[in-house]
Amino acid sequence: MLSLADTVDLSWDVVIIGAGPAGSATAITLAHLGHRVLLIDEQAAAKYKLGESLPPASVDIVRHFLGDLESETRKPVGLYKTAGNVSTWSSNQPDHADFFFTATGFGLCIDRLAFDEALRLRAIELGASLQRGACFESCTRRSDPSFNWDITLSSGFKTQHHRARYLVDCSGRRAVVSKWLEIPIVENEDRLFAYAQWFSTSIKDDDCFTRIEAVKNGWWYTNRVPSDNNNENKRLVVFYSDKDLPDAKKAGNSKGFYEHLSESTQIAAVLKANAYEPSGAIRGAPANSQRLNEFCGDAWMAVGDAAQAYDPLSSQGIDKALRTASHAGHLIHYALTDEATHSLGADNHFIQQYSQQQQQIWNAYISQRDYYYGIQTRWSDQPFWQRRMKKRTTLLTTIEHPSVLLDIEGQSDRLKAAAARHARDGTND
Ligand SMILES: Cc1cc2nc3c(=O)[nH]c(=O)nc-3n(C[C@H](O)[C@H](O)[C@H](O)COP(=O)(O)OP(=O)(O)OC[C@H]3O[C@@H](n4cnc5c(N)ncnc54)[C@H](O)[C@@H]3O)c2cc1C
Repeated sequence: MLSLADTVDLSWDVVIIGAGPAGSATAITLAHLGHRVLLIDEQAAAKYKLGESLPPASVDIVRHFLGDLESETRKPVGLYKTAGNVSTWSSNQPDHADFFFTATGFGLCIDRLAFDEALRLRAIELGASLQRGACFESCTRRSDPSFNWDITLSSGFKTQHHRARYLVDCSGRRAVVSKWLEIPIVENEDRLFAYAQWFSTSIKDDDCFTRIEAVKNGWWYTNRVPSDNNNENKRLVVFYSDKDLPDAKKAGNSKGFYEHLSESTQIAAVLKANAYEPSGAIRGAPANSQRLNEFCGDAWMAVGDAAQAYDPLSSQGIDKALRTASHAGHLIHYALTDEATHSLGADNHFIQQYSQQQQQIWNAYISQRDYYYGIQTRWSDQPFWQRRMKKRTTLLTTIEHPSVLLDIEGQSDRLKAAAARHARDGTND
């Protein structure tokens, strides 16, 4: 790997800030198309990360970037195949969605740190340079025909300066480049927050289902996660609620977390049946829906969560990061190599396409999210659900038949079975 100390010329076609799935996949696409790419991440070493479940519809895009997942010789990451979802959502009866009947026949549960690292290594393999432990500080638009940006990074006590023709913000929900460029994050009232606890047990747990359960203050989710220790099974359990609700805040400490957990039936039962014990501290992370006011502009673009971040109920964050990165990489390539136009701004035909695509997927996502929250009507007296019902009412005034929404994206599998029950019965139990 090229270290920056060895790099004589700090000028790049494209500098990408953030080496999560979006940044690495954008780097892979652009490096493959022959561009000189610098990929930057502030993390010097791997840190825990939430988000490990991929629906069957994502298997192909993962293969596109990481190769054959079933190859014995080149297993890219710790993963196991998931069999489906069990959701206790619109009623107190668990609904099963079996992946057997999907095109791939399985979904994936990935070791998230290994998965992100495999994507970074693939980007390096294709010729991108990766700089770890370097933090984006600022950027300045130049009026130089060969380079559009001066970019300043900090790395320990050192400051580095780079030049690039194009700048990509893949810094996740923090959207550091877009913030620096004063692009507002669109205000919404979503305060969804994740409280995550890992559990471990020495009892063999071969449950291959993702389990979701609605409760009065929010919802729960659990997955068995890949473990590199054969004698230990690990499980991630996450409680989602609105951060400003006093009851929800309690989940930040063990006592409150277990109080909430005792209200679940499915999740608590899985932990009990396998004698799971908590492992490590409860971690918190924002899980609200958010988007930028503008997804791209003059020689810059935001990709992945930096552009738009989803509620984990959708289970689409990584898929969206990979797909839009591939699209973004190709459109940046066309914009940089098109001799007919010199503008890299929002008036560039290719950049416009990206902006339109982002707007469309945001609209589809919001419709789908509101539909799924709307079919859960059991706690209409609770603020967490009341807030979401309001959105459902607005949605139904604009869309006559909710089943249309299920066709918009064949990807959100987490609650498909619950939605099917809702469509079949017409009412919630
Ligand atoms: C609780 C929770 C559960 C989730 N569950 C799922 C799931 O089951 N399935 C799914 O598909 N998705 C899930 N997601 C969403 C998924 O994790 C994200 O959509 C995905 O990580 C987005 O990838 P990204 O590359 O855009 O951003 P990130 O993965 O956030 O990567 C951003 C990178 O930018 C770097 N960075 C930030 N600031 C700077 C800076 N100043 N300088 C340099 N580098 C910087 C960070 O270190 C990071 O590596 C979940 C999210 C949450 C919060």
